[in-house]
Amino acid sequence: TTLAPENAALIERRAAVLGPAYRLMYEEPLHLVRGEGAWLYDETGRAYLDAYNNVTSLGHCHPRVVEAIARQAGILATHTRYLHTLILDYAERLVATFPAELSQVMFTCTGSEANDLALRIAKARTGGTGIIVTENAYHGVTEAVAAFSPSLGTGVDLGIAVRTVPAPESYHAGKTDVGEAFRRDVEAAIADLRRHGLKPALLIVDTLFTSDGVLPGPAGFLAGAVAAIRAAGGLFVADEVQPGFGRSGEAMWGFQRHGVVPDLVTLGKPMGNGQPIAGVVMRPEVVESFGRTSRYFNTFGGNAVSCAAAMAVLEAIETEGLQRNALETGRHLLDGIAGLAERHEVIGDVRGAGLFIGAEFVTDRGTRAPDRARTARVVNAMRDRGVLISISGRNHNVLKIRPPLVFSRENADLFVSVLDDALVATA
Ligand code: PMP
Repeated sequence: TTLAPENAALIERRAAVLGPAYRLMYEEPLHLVRGEGAWLYDETGRAYLDAYNNVTSLGHCHPRVVEAIARQAGILATHTRYLHTLILDYAERLVATFPAELSQVMFTCTGSEANDLALRIAKARTGGTGIIVTENAYHGVTEAVAAFSPSLGTGVDLGIAVRTVPAPESYHAGKTDVGEAFRRDVEAAIADLRRHGLKPALLIVDTLFTSDGVLPGPAGFLAGAVAAIRAAGGLFVADEVQPGFGRSGEAMWGFQRHGVVPDLVTLGKPMGNGQPIAGVVMRPEVVESFGRTSRYFNTFGGNAVSCAAAMAVLEAIETEGLQRNALETGRHLLDGIAGLAERHEVIGDVRGAGLFIGAEFVTDRGTRAPDRARTARVVNAMRDRGVLISISGRNHNVLKIRPPLVFSRENADLFVSVLDDALVATA
């Protein structure tokens, strides 16, 4: 594939004005001009099936959200230092989707800010500083949060109070009890913090372990690790930025698959279907000491326009039955990909929950050695055939398949046939 000269010029303009830290996706970067439902369109009018963008979880430019944003932007767009009913209506409706213990919420603009705030709340509550995360976790961009996001690699130092634990998985670990192994690893991390004179503040996990390679695991396996961090005086924080808002199909929130009730839950990405809104859902007793000692004002967090968008998102998930669609279409898509694994040796493992699926590529099914090169080739071959996905995992060998919750069976069937083609073409 050769890059159109217009797009080569755009790449040069980006580098000149945006500087060196941004990265584009795909060998041949995409120039997008429009989106609708599960489809994106490039500058030539070519359509791409979007199986990757989890922000626009209701589909691109969902009419209900577009209308809510436009209407509210024309009425009032201001912050949380005035009385306003919309933020209260939304907050009440949002916390009603959580177990009763989680009854309060604070709003931010990004998932990173939500995790940053969760850390501050946890430090105030526990008096500890120790943070436990999985080996290839990503939790955000602020300096504090990047320090517990090991997936950022060697360019970012982990904090001295950060301990990593292996991600809970069974494909490589074999028949071990995933929950038991994870609990033991968290206990070892707690012991190591203590040996260095550090008190644990929190264990934070993305409840589908998406950047560790998409590891939904058996439902319920998190309970032991959650008990371990609490026994050590720390909090359990569920990062629902990726799994939340119905994506797992089995529940509205990823932690619910595990039968645990976190101390803090962080939200973001799909919350406003593209409008920046994120937040922390909290047990009131957990945030009490932070509230006593700190004020929190986030200029755009919880602004009226974002709350209007977020309200429309919750309404659409309910009225359009999107969690059930995530479950049913997700299962159909997973079955289709598992069917390809019967013919394509490179697919070592297929796993997922709802519309979040990982397919791990190996050079050899016996050794399970990662096939990083083939994974990249398949993702680019799919892009060339008009289907968008990306890559996850420490070894960059897991297809990260994360379509909008409005994905249809026809979309899933098209996805599987294009993946089949891409596998044949890259063999
Ligand atoms: N947590 C998780 C699990 C994420 O995937 C991300 C974003 N990829 C974040 C937090 C940070 O969210 P944001 O980019 O909105 O700051």
